[in-house]
Amino acid sequence: MIVGLLGGGQLGRMLALAGYPLGLGFRALDHSADAPTGRLAELMVAGFDDREALVRFSSGLGLVTYEFENVPVETVRFLSERVEVYPPPEALEAGQDRLTEKRFFQKLGIPTPPFAAVDTRDDLDFALQRIGFPAVLKTRRFGYDGKGQFVLRAEEDARQAWGALEGRPLLLEGFVRFDREISVIAVRGKRGETAFYPPVENHHEKGMLRLSLAPAPNLPPHLKQQGEDYALRALNALNYVGVLAIEFFEFGGQLYANEMAPRVHNSGHWTIEGAEVSQFENHLRAITGLPLGSTDLIGSSAMVNLIGELPPIEALASIPGAHVHLYGKEPRPDRKLGHVTLRARDPQTLVPRIRQVRDLSGI
Ligand code: AMP
Repeated sequence: MIVGLLGGGQLGRMLALAGYPLGLGFRALDHSADAPTGRLAELMVAGFDDREALVRFSSGLGLVTYEFENVPVETVRFLSERVEVYPPPEALEAGQDRLTEKRFFQKLGIPTPPFAAVDTRDDLDFALQRIGFPAVLKTRRFGYDGKGQFVLRAEEDARQAWGALEGRPLLLEGFVRFDREISVIAVRGKRGETAFYPPVENHHEKGMLRLSLAPAPNLPPHLKQQGEDYALRALNALNYVGVLAIEFFEFGGQLYANEMAPRVHNSGHWTIEGAEVSQFENHLRAITGLPLGSTDLIGSSAMVNLIGELPPIEALASIPGAHVHLYGKEPRPDRKLGHVTLRARDPQTLVPRIRQVRDLSGI
């Protein structure tokens, strides 16, 4: 079967790598001829709004999935008239707008930071009165890796942020003084069966994921349960098929949902070496109707993103338990070029090795 991938980035590339042993083929659609998936799968270069290209893209595919969540919903709906698309377009739609997403969590009883829609300067003043400083002003759509958002600590910040974001639909959120950030990677199959990877602790730099620790160290059992329970509610509400990632803030013994991604996720890359079956393989198993694979851990893992420039690969590869992944992208500031997963029998052994990667990659 040939699986169509909307988006040809590193996630598509890792999906293809996981799918070849299962006998799957891949065709990616991306606007860039340099898209990383193109190095190892068929790549069609076209815009997501090019209907004629979409018809050619879908021809002969067994199904379509996405590796990028800002694909226009109209594109996915157009394709879904020709070929099965997983996860469901409704999930894509729910996650594309931060306001819809927060309301979705709220409806399911999943706690979130306080939030308010902002379209006018009056809305912003009113929302700030209600939520108070500090707060975060974000664009509702097309924000990722911390882009399109401002932390507001005082009136002056509000004025500046408004100057930069005015005219776009916005969301104001209370700033959470979180203890840490946690994500849950969950998967649901076509018969409604589910599986969950253990929650992971994430560290961001400039809004971008830099380090994930799997499993999240010292996570109280009730929070592991809470993360799974919230993810299960979201999966079932969307009649979801595939991998879903939800990012949470841990604060005061409780999880608050920040956002979800209807796709494989950067905070799940460690599963390639650190779990019995990776998030990539489980996504493919789910969407092709195979039984889900075990999400059990193999030891402890840490994943470090390589961003902007690459450290010497020999040095990285010489660290015990290191697995180097390079995406074949040209170095550029703030660009994710690859990652390293460190796997060890226990978390203590990981600590000095993480330090080694950190020293090499300049975190
Ligand atoms: P996002 O694009 O919403 O995931 O935001 C990127 C990063 O900004 C998050 O991973 C957090 O580190 C930080 N952030 C976003 N929203 C909030 C918030 N309401 N309170 C505190 N930090 C936040």
